[in-house]
Amino acid sequence: MKILVVGGAGYIGSHMVKMLLGAGHEVVTLDNLSNGHRDAVLGGKLVVGDLSDRGLLRQLFREHDFAGVMHFASFIEVGESVREPLKYYRNNLANTVNLLQAMVEHDVFAFIFSSTAAIFGEPQAIPIDETHPRNPINPYGRSKWMVEQVLADVDQAHGLKSVCLRYFNAAGADPEGQLGERHDPETHLIPLVLQAAAGRREAITVFGSDYDTPDGTCIRDYIHINDLCQAHLLALEHLLAGGDSRAYNLGNGQGFSVREVIDTARAVTRRDIPVIESERRPGDPARLVADSTRARQELGWRPAYSELATIIEHAWRWEQTFFGRQRLAATA
Ligand code: UDP
Repeated sequence: MKILVVGGAGYIGSHMVKMLLGAGHEVVTLDNLSNGHRDAVLGGKLVVGDLSDRGLLRQLFREHDFAGVMHFASFIEVGESVREPLKYYRNNLANTVNLLQAMVEHDVFAFIFSSTAAIFGEPQAIPIDETHPRNPINPYGRSKWMVEQVLADVDQAHGLKSVCLRYFNAAGADPEGQLGERHDPETHLIPLVLQAAAGRREAITVFGSDYDTPDGTCIRDYIHINDLCQAHLLALEHLLAGGDSRAYNLGNGQGFSVREVIDTARAVTRRDIPVIESERRPGDPARLVADSTRARQELGWRPAYSELATIIEHAWRWEQTFFGRQRLAATA
């Protein structure tokens, strides 16, 4: 089947493109390369362009007979979304509407959407299942929840079927070592911890150690990037088989504190990782842990890499190979 992957040059999208190609699909990636990397698209066709370009979208859908669309192209920084909400609503909401419009006009009715745990806001119960109230507390989370609501209306009006996948903390790297996380600037805990282990940064700053958790640091649910992509593949198969619109929370169901992540990284890398204790980061709930029972039951999803040590090991291999090569090139 031919699949359009929007944002296929980014962290999650690039792993998805690789997995789709491995599963025998034909892939067209659309990415504006604002945060993605051309060399992260390991196969298929790459079209460099932006979702705001409706002419380009029309042309793309006329040219290709897509069976489905996966959409990863959004901004993801909570703090930035508070400072620049319109940037988030323009890209994450309005540009997604452009994409949906093109799909409806060209009779493409299967859509996989990257949603987020941020749509739930401050958790009222842990673990968080799909029935948890949606109460996002920042423009990033609101932009994603708005798209979920748009999707319900578009299904109702046009029969466009979608699966919304609410990610908890995507982490790790391609087990074969070809791909990994390359955000610039990097804001995520695990790559930052590994940068400290590699000596690329002096220390890891721990944002808050006075939370109501056993060791005082925040607890998150880290899910391996390949397990995350596997869920997308199953969701796509569900829609291509004529399945109905659904939403799933995707995590390991197991929470780890910031301190546990640092300790596990010390064990995996056998390096010293200096820590700086700092203030809380605004907007961080103490605990976010997913209940992914629905995805397991309905999609038959079975995460393969649920150990935190494995997730960190794969991310460490990427840090050493990719950034190690970059360092060598810079000193050559
Ligand atoms: N965190 C931290 N230091 C950092 C980056 C993150 O202590 O340099 C904490 C952050 O406060 C949160 C957890 O690590 O509790 C995971 O943060 P991340 O930004 O990776 O993902 P988020 O949970 O915000 O999606």
